[in-house]
Amino acid sequence: MATTIRVTRQAIEDYQSLFVNRRAYTMQSMRPHPETGRHYYFRPSKKGSDTPLMLTDDAIRQHLEGKITVGLYAINPSTQRCKWVAIDADYKNAMEDLLKLQYHLTQDQVEPALEMSRRGGHLWIFLATPLLAKECRIYIHDLASRLGVPVKGAGLADGIEVFPKHDAIGAGEFGNAISGPLGIHRGANRRFWFYGANYTLEDQIAYLNRLRKVTEEEVRRFIAGKEKSEPDFAPRSKTDISREPRKANGQPEFRILEHVGTVRKVGRNYVTRCPSCAGSGHDRSGDNLAILIKDPRFYKCWAGCDKEMIRVALGCPIRIRNHA
Ligand SMILES: [Zn+2]
Repeated sequence: MATTIRVTRQAIEDYQSLFVNRRAYTMQSMRPHPETGRHYYFRPSKKGSDTPLMLTDDAIRQHLEGKITVGLYAINPSTQRCKWVAIDADYKNAMEDLLKLQYHLTQDQVEPALEMSRRGGHLWIFLATPLLAKECRIYIHDLASRLGVPVKGAGLADGIEVFPKHDAIGAGEFGNAISGPLGIHRGANRRFWFYGANYTLEDQIAYLNRLRKVTEEEVRRFIAGKEKSEPDFAPRSKTDISREPRKANGQPEFRILEHVGTVRKVGRNYVTRCPSCAGSGHDRSGDNLAILIKDPRFYKCWAGCDKEMIRVALGCPIRIRNHA
């Protein structure tokens, strides 16, 4: 078990100003899901009610002490702005892509911080003042496409994920949360640090405070003449990995179209309410889930629910077979 560390008042204040852009948050379950073994994040609420809890100084202290693990939302819906951009990569060669991005960000005088994760890393970019999520996303997606770094979802199962995951969110919506740095990951039962400083809370926070923060003027200069923040959702080649592999052993294939509600056609996709979003009362507009018409094994929730979450929500969890 990881040891508890002492958390100062100043550390909590610095954490707030670096990472917290709104008071809604998520918490990682202490117990793994019985089917998938994963520690899912949920939005905590007051005992015996559905009033959501707000991220207090005390919750941040407990997170830094390692007693709870919180997830942070990027966008504040009252401004559509974010304080940071985080690039999540956890596939084979993820670190290579993150280092490529880090190098090219540095060429723009951006100083990103590389955080370790279970299977790859997260690259964090801090902003001098909260900036429009849409503009931040245009910058990162454009950079990734120039460098040939894959973005997850555009028909690709593997690729970076950019937080914020939306250009804007509605009032009462949350977008996607990412694990709050410097806490303990429940699945791994350990803390993941930033590479750039000693592995103590004090040194880590001092390092993050020292990094140059990106200004609005800079982001607007980086994205001048560019306007697209979303990659097309379509497989780029036959070698792209399917979201639902064909089964060779005679078992019936999982067909998502048999499990979701009414779909509408939008371009190359069927669009419908994401079952996983619906389970938590989200996606009321019923358009988060895109299913490729040509090959419905490819599907994607624009709010970022993954295949496992969608399958659990449908009551058809993906079973992990044990080759004993
Ligand atoms: Zn979803």
